[in-house]
Amino acid sequence: ALVVRHRMRSSGKWARAMAVLREFEEKCSTPIGKLKQVADAMTVEMQAGLASEGGSKLKMLISYVDNLPTGDEKGLFYALDLGGTNFRVLRVQLGGKSGRVVKQEFDEVSIPPHLMTASSEALFDFIAAALAKFVAEEGEGFHPAPGRQRELGFTFSFPVRQLSISSGTLIKWTKGFNIQDTVGQDVVAELTRAMERIGLDMRVAALVNDTIGTLAGGRYTNQDVVAAVILGTGTNAAYVERAHAIPKWHGLLPKSGEMVINMEWGNFRSSHLPLTEYDQGLDVESLNPGEQIFEKMISGMYLGDIVRRVLCKMAEEAEFFGDTVPQNLKVPFILRTPDMSAMHHDTSPDLKVVASKLKDILEISNTSLKMRKTIVELCDIVATRGARLSAAGILGILKKLGRDTVKDGEKQKSVIALDGGLYEHYTKFRSSMEKTLKELLGEEVAANILIEHSNDGSGIGAALLAASHSQYLEVEEP
Ligand code: BGC
Ligand code: MG
Repeated sequence: ALVVRHRMRSSGKWARAMAVLREFEEKCSTPIGKLKQVADAMTVEMQAGLASEGGSKLKMLISYVDNLPTGDEKGLFYALDLGGTNFRVLRVQLGGKSGRVVKQEFDEVSIPPHLMTASSEALFDFIAAALAKFVAEEGEGFHPAPGRQRELGFTFSFPVRQLSISSGTLIKWTKGFNIQDTVGQDVVAELTRAMERIGLDMRVAALVNDTIGTLAGGRYTNQDVVAAVILGTGTNAAYVERAHAIPKWHGLLPKSGEMVINMEWGNFRSSHLPLTEYDQGLDVESLNPGEQIFEKMISGMYLGDIVRRVLCKMAEEAEFFGDTVPQNLKVPFILRTPDMSAMHHDTSPDLKVVASKLKDILEISNTSLKMRKTIVELCDIVATRGARLSAAGILGILKKLGRDTVKDGEKQKSVIALDGGLYEHYTKFRSSMEKTLKELLGEEVAANILIEHSNDGSGIGAALLAASHSQYLEVEEP
């Protein structure tokens, strides 16, 4: 009798845990109809953001990039890419039409976490020091023009109000960064001062968002690239807009008639988004409550933590892991998205990757296969929602561009350059996103839309834009 009662109790717990999971699953659901509503809302917000400053949650920032790389870019240029957890420095020798990228080298430096929330000066000093060290190692195959200052494309992956192609003030930090004294400052001036402090003679010729760099890098290799999307620690998109479709732009109409727009889509929100109590909890406890809601449902910084939050609830309300709640489950961000991805892709029959992640990260052992399968399912729910919402965002852009339909048998290709660790490494996320986009577009349209992985295109893109905005350009022009 005792054994029977015990079994009944634990199956009651199991049922309660499943109820928590099923409720979450239901709230996360993203049927095609809902995704189309999200896409429509995205298009509407894009329009509103272009109409007036502050007209929408979507900032639709003007990049001052009105010409994308052509292939004529020439000379030695540097790029610095500051984004999520690492920053990269890069040098590239551009050979013009015939030579293209003659030679390139890069270095990757991880940012000490304490610098992400310390002072502006400390962060920029660290960056400038790494850049100076890299420049000092410039070797064979690179040809700086004698007597000329070296020039840099600065990829800064945060929302910036551009004042020109080579200056702009930080609107707010996102992702893991939060340094109050940088907000409102010109980040190029901050970097330039740090370079001067360390004695590095270098001019920032272009300040660009990573989406803009990716777009430029993508266009360099494929002239059909019309938009770029980052799915990494954070998420965002940029695309090429017709200048006269930007009512808030009061400057001169560019010769090209085009202007690249940094959407800052991470800050998108809409009543159509499938938000849950776990998303709300994550938001409230984040570094930037109320901000970047779309990003918090999609990007690599957050997916693992959503999984943790649901597991925590299953432990608390249904003793999913036994009669005590594993303490590590309460530690924010302890379960990182790469670990979630590893569990999600576990193909071993007894799910030993899941078992080892649970043990190593959460200090949970003795899980049953059934429990581990449930955890894989939870990862799937969270990743699928994020992937499908990203596809809806891309559909929103294609709609804005009028490229979501086929006009009388037209075969014009539209290429979207994609980059970011989430897209690159989380296979199930990537394939779900691509499959959903096809589903949303329908077969005929989907045949004209291509997604291209732009591997670290943002660095090269920034160097290319530095080249086309070089202070020495006029001198060379015939
Ligand atoms: C930032 C964007 C950036 C994106 C991807 C977001 O958090 O606001 O500027 O493009 O992350 O790196
Ligand atoms: Mg990046």
